[in-house]
Amino acid sequence: MNAEGGCTCGQVRYRLKAQPIVVHCCHCRWCQRETGASFALNAVIETAEVELLGQAPERHPPERIDTPSASGKGQAVFRCPSCKVALWSHYGGAGENAAFVRAGTLDNPDACPPNVHIFTDSKQPWVVIPEGAEQFPAFYSGRDVVHLYGEDGAARWRVLRGR
Ligand SMILES: [Zn+2]
Ligand SMILES: [Zn+2]
Repeated sequence: MNAEGGCTCGQVRYRLKAQPIVVHCCHCRWCQRETGASFALNAVIETAEVELLGQAPERHPPERIDTPSASGKGQAVFRCPSCKVALWSHYGGAGENAAFVRAGTLDNPDACPPNVHIFTDSKQPWVVIPEGAEQFPAFYSGRDVVHLYGEDGAARWRVLRGR
């Protein structure tokens, strides 16, 4: 994996240095509101594997916007300081160790199809999930992690969770 992405104005550019652990397609109402669309597509990866590119990116880091979340724990959304496009979030659970990268900000988002559909209970009815795709009415349980992420992905996730 050597996938690059960025915001719309080009001020924030990034590179994923590893394959995402898992790609979530989240159909919850919160993601619908925040995207203004029907679902969010999040590539979950170690924050350490997200490299900021460009000239002196430390002078123009993505701007952290603390946003309420369905869990009540909140999410930190990182946005371009100029055009405000959202690039990734940190959620509860793995916290800042894990970046939920918005797959649509990749230069080639086609490379990140979802591994699993979640919160399908609130899926908009016109969205048709492909037959055979992994799907859960809400979030999946810890027991599903190895099945969904594979052994390698599950091990990477455990490191992020600190256990
Ligand atoms: Zn921008
Ligand atoms: Zn969601």
